[in-house]
Amino acid sequence: MRYATFNHQGRRQVGEVSADGRTITALDFPAAAGERGMLAMIEQLAGGASAPATTGPALPLDAVRLEAPIPRPRRNVWCVGRNYHAHAKELQASVFRNNTADPASWPIFFTKAPETVVGPSDPVVLPGAAVSTQIDYEAELTIVIGKGGKNIPRDKAMEHVFGYTIVNDVTARDVQMRHQQWDLGKSFDSFCPMGPWIVTADELDGTDTRVRLWVNGELRQDAQTTDLIFDLPSLIETCSRGITLYPGDLIATGTPAGVGMGMTPPSWLKSGDVVRIAIDGLGEIENRFVESPR
Ligand code: MN
Repeated sequence: MRYATFNHQGRRQVGEVSADGRTITALDFPAAAGERGMLAMIEQLAGGASAPATTGPALPLDAVRLEAPIPRPRRNVWCVGRNYHAHAKELQASVFRNNTADPASWPIFFTKAPETVVGPSDPVVLPGAAVSTQIDYEAELTIVIGKGGKNIPRDKAMEHVFGYTIVNDVTARDVQMRHQQWDLGKSFDSFCPMGPWIVTADELDGTDTRVRLWVNGELRQDAQTTDLIFDLPSLIETCSRGITLYPGDLIATGTPAGVGMGMTPPSWLKSGDVVRIAIDGLGEIENRFVESPR
């Protein structure tokens, strides 16, 4: 199934996308729950409820506005750094310079604030040159946790995956580097485009799918998730060590090689740039980067 959070005639709802991807049908949900998007439904399912029935007409997808499937996560988005070998190499002299631990020992985790999340076709607002001049993109397959848990062993980890979505882990490189710790440079308003929906785990093998990103039509990132340094079960196992994961928690699994900072010379996003991410079996998101309103 593909479940989306969408806005139709000013009301936020949750819906099921048709198999051909052309229409969406609302799910029968109280309005207050629908306001929380897919987060409310994932919590209900994790609590043992069955999936709500569809209600009303099948709406053409282009007649609705897709929002982030989880428009406001209940807490920060978990993110993984340095998780593709080729990406580790391209930033070994910059971002990863001070990370002297063996890349194969433990994954790097950091978080993005919930308020960073915007929809799959929403604008990303550049913070202005006084704040950052080095804005970069990162295409990432993102795990959506279904059943919560703590100290989840890797052989049980995939049972906790509700599905997958796409995230662009937009990053201010100068701010990321300046503060040693990454949360500030990753948490600017609108720096987490997400969508276009959630594909359930029974319909997509997240452990083996293709992740691509284009800037203004130019292919920049292209990798298979089989190239992950830390695979999906080990990320869930590590993130849940001593920490309870909750239904609807998000784990962005890291980005492939090809970020702007890895280019010679580095290439930063500017106003008017359009970044598109496609993950096979999942869909696409496309976001325009725009000047900050004064
Ligand atoms: Mn990232």
